[in-house]
Amino acid sequence: MNLEKSLELFIKGQKHLVGAVNSPVRAYKSVGGVPLFIKKAKGSKIIDVDRNRYIDLVLSYGPMILGHRDKRVEKSILKALKNGYTFGATSKGEIKIAKMVCDAFPGMDKVRFVNSGTEAVLSALRLARAYTNKDKIIKFSGCYHGHSDALLVAAGSGLVTLSIPGSKGVPTDAIKNTLIAEYNNIESVKNQINNHEDIAAVIIEPIAGNMGVVLPNQEFISELRKITKEKGILLILDEVMTGYRSKYGGAQELLGIEADITCLGKVIGGGFPVGAYGARNEIMETVAPLGDMYQAGTLSGNPIAMACGIATLKELKKQDPYDDFNKVAEKIETFLLEAAKENNIDLQVNRFGSMMSPFFSSEDIVDFKSAQTSDTEKFKTFFWNMIDNGVFLPPSQFEAWFLSTVLSKKDLKNIEKAIKVSMKAVADKHNS
Ligand SMILES: *Cc1c(COP(=O)(O)O)cnc(C)c1O
Repeated sequence: MNLEKSLELFIKGQKHLVGAVNSPVRAYKSVGGVPLFIKKAKGSKIIDVDRNRYIDLVLSYGPMILGHRDKRVEKSILKALKNGYTFGATSKGEIKIAKMVCDAFPGMDKVRFVNSGTEAVLSALRLARAYTNKDKIIKFSGCYHGHSDALLVAAGSGLVTLSIPGSKGVPTDAIKNTLIAEYNNIESVKNQINNHEDIAAVIIEPIAGNMGVVLPNQEFISELRKITKEKGILLILDEVMTGYRSKYGGAQELLGIEADITCLGKVIGGGFPVGAYGARNEIMETVAPLGDMYQAGTLSGNPIAMACGIATLKELKKQDPYDDFNKVAEKIETFLLEAAKENNIDLQVNRFGSMMSPFFSSEDIVDFKSAQTSDTEKFKTFFWNMIDNGVFLPPSQFEAWFLSTVLSKKDLKNIEKAIKVSMKAVADKHNS
């Protein structure tokens, strides 16, 4: 496979961009080799600067759920563009998408738009603290909630991949109010609650996606809702990844729980930088200008981004692709498991709607610790063989694969073929 131009850009890019990237996972540190530099994308395909074509299962880590450059979405963006780029005042689109989002999340009366998932979550934390007048928060090991100081502890994919335990530059003071619990382990939550007063909130990915996909067991998540309610602790559901991925709206409804504060991002911007946090009136009235919790943004609610988000959500609502997502994900799971079995490779597949992760492990993957039993060397071999066979995957064992609505039958056949070849390559290299 020719990656000559990617290599050229990788070298050139390092002069003025840190590691030639603007987000660390794009540097392919955990899989080695030359990171792909992308020229363009259309539909289910993405094309690199050397003109290699791939079926895209990265989808910009989630947002491009309709595939690239959906006609109707593009039309809305172009229309909005002609009215100007940003105004520093509210425009109609913001009101429209706010209603769409609140209608899809039963626990949300009001929403505030920001520019990224990171911003949504850090604002949600401030809101929880302002509303409860308490300081401490509980987060789960392996869950990622963006790169704000307080949450950069035990934070999943990007950090596991780089093997750094937190981040340098985060003052101890900034994380002294962050308590850690284990995913799917309600006792670990109870321990923290029993040992600390003044807990403002528990934050969780209702389906974890940043240690690879890990599902909560129903008892754990129901119990989590129950005890937080009993103790007057807010439950923040970080649905930046899961929102609109398995149903129109949040994972919380499927799990039969309701968040006190919900965080959104990725899909709601349809590829433009949008994040959001929302809650019932009583809580949102704490946010300025209604209340004393300050949070602002020059480009928040940007009209072009809102137009893209509105068109994306409209299309999702109309197409209701969620049954199909499950069927496609099940098929890919079968391809993976059959190819693994044929080649004597231990493999677990976790999936939720249109997100999924195969783990090269013999253990059930239920938390951060079990996720780390995966053989990342096998993943590396698998990854590069998939790339060679025309399937673009996230370059880490601990990132989810994403499905789009535009995957064709032919794409699926090609994914199946690529999986067969790649699993065999894993066996040839790693089975002794
Ligand atoms: C991606 C992600 C974030 C961070 O969003 P950014 O837009 O990258 O800042 C936060 N939480 C979860 C669950 C995510 O998947």
